[in-house]
Amino acid sequence: MRPVACPFCGTTKTRLAVRRSFTDRLFGSVTVYPFRCQLCARRFRAFLGRVARNPRRNFDRVSVDFPVWLKLLHASPHELGEEGIIRDLSIRGCRIRCERSVVPGTRVELEFQHSTASFPITVEEAIVRSSSPGEIGLRFTQLHRQDQRRIRSILDLWLPEPALPR
Ligand SMILES: [Zn+2]
Repeated sequence: MRPVACPFCGTTKTRLAVRRSFTDRLFGSVTVYPFRCQLCARRFRAFLGRVARNPRRNFDRVSVDFPVWLKLLHASPHELGEEGIIRDLSIRGCRIRCERSVVPGTRVELEFQHSTASFPITVEEAIVRSSSPGEIGLRFTQLHRQDQRRIRSILDLWLPEPALPR
């Protein structure tokens, strides 16, 4: 059995996606399951050939340690940004350790440095999905193509080689 390749970008860094719909269940009865490409984020179905559990998440996150600077979107020009550390990253979002607590639903802009030898990556808009003392979870909602490509290459490097779908 081989790892499942993404029909859109060809990578084998894919994983079983969460099954939600009736159609998902229908296909599931013949072990055709939805998958998520971890690099281009697209969803597709593929034949697995054995029964697999319904996973709880769609994206694997890689543990990182990138300094990040975030700023509330539409904040007044006098409002200063906030520094933090990105703890984990996927193509769809990240988790940040920072001191300021931010209410879920807040939109922010962020900029992070993944190596000292390159320009920072900018996420034009992200929405706060979860917030606990010292930590916030973000989902990226707007990203320039070129920044998305750079995040994709970080993930390609850091995501483990594909194992068989769990
Ligand atoms: Zn893909």
